[in-house]
Amino acid sequence: MILLSGPNISGNEWKYVKDCLDTQWVSSVGSYVNKFEQMVAEFAGCKYGVAASNGTSALHISLELLGVKRNDYVIVPNVTFIASLNSIKYTKADPILMDIDPETWQMDLNLLEEFLENDTYIKGNHSFLKKNNRRIPAIMPVHVLGNMCDMDKLTGIATRYKLHVVEDATEALGSYFNNRHSGSFGILGSFSFNGNKIITTGGGGVIVTNDEDLAKRAKHLTTQAKCDPFEYIHDEIGYNYRLVNVLAAMGVAQMEQLPDFIKRKHEIDTFYKNTLSSTGDISFQKVLPEVNPNYWLFTFKTKKQKELLKILNEKKCSQDHSGCQ
Ligand SMILES: *Cc1c(COP(=O)(O)O)cnc(C)c1O
Repeated sequence: MILLSGPNISGNEWKYVKDCLDTQWVSSVGSYVNKFEQMVAEFAGCKYGVAASNGTSALHISLELLGVKRNDYVIVPNVTFIASLNSIKYTKADPILMDIDPETWQMDLNLLEEFLENDTYIKGNHSFLKKNNRRIPAIMPVHVLGNMCDMDKLTGIATRYKLHVVEDATEALGSYFNNRHSGSFGILGSFSFNGNKIITTGGGGVIVTNDEDLAKRAKHLTTQAKCDPFEYIHDEIGYNYRLVNVLAAMGVAQMEQLPDFIKRKHEIDTFYKNTLSSTGDISFQKVLPEVNPNYWLFTFKTKKQKELLKILNEKKCSQDHSGCQ
């Protein structure tokens, strides 16, 4: 049996989780939360990290922080996991689905430019859709399967059209474009630590940013927007999107192993590519020369998908343990 995306728990997970239980620091504050936030931010080359209950809540808070609201649009690629779109809908905004490039499977930046050029106009600090004058405050590139598009080009377009870049880097911890880590290109970036990701806390997320005010507000919004240390005074509608210390402890142990995981994923990717490259109609995701992916999930395209899945499932030689698909 080959798990589609099983966790690998072979480091200090037991030790750190036991430490939480022994010291009774099990809940929403504790030293592992701070440590995990720092480790993820540092790995991604960002100044600040703010833990969240999962990747979806991290994305939701990111959009809230930028004031995305009812009647707004957020541009997102049409191949992603549903959570990217759900996070947009939570703010009452709507997604604009941009087609992916058939080679890289990431957002097609030529189509993006064409769309912005022909169908939008800029007024003041924002772009608006011509046909209904609705605002487009943000774009959410998704680094699908740990691959990345030309992020220099994307951020250039975003600047020209006054779009905030909110990266859905949930699948791309350990992926780089021109030696710069995913999540560090946008004003905000989100990682996920669900059971199927490259490292896991069972469930969890981290928002990264270089903006101190946004980091502070992210912490505030994910922790019920309580603004007095003693009294129950809340200055806006906050969320209980905290990551608990027990899970952050697991995250710290997983982060310690991340470089080894990426190395192993690369080996597995090379093995599959060498083995399958002249088999039937199989083709692989194109990786730009500037991209160093994390090789999170080996994937290929074939027209025989249905038959292949049927055979693999019948023989019970492949299974998804992530619990979300
Ligand atoms: C996993 C994933 C998410 C959501 O992360 P959760 O931690 O499961 O909430 C969002 N977007 C994409 C593209 C993902 O793969």
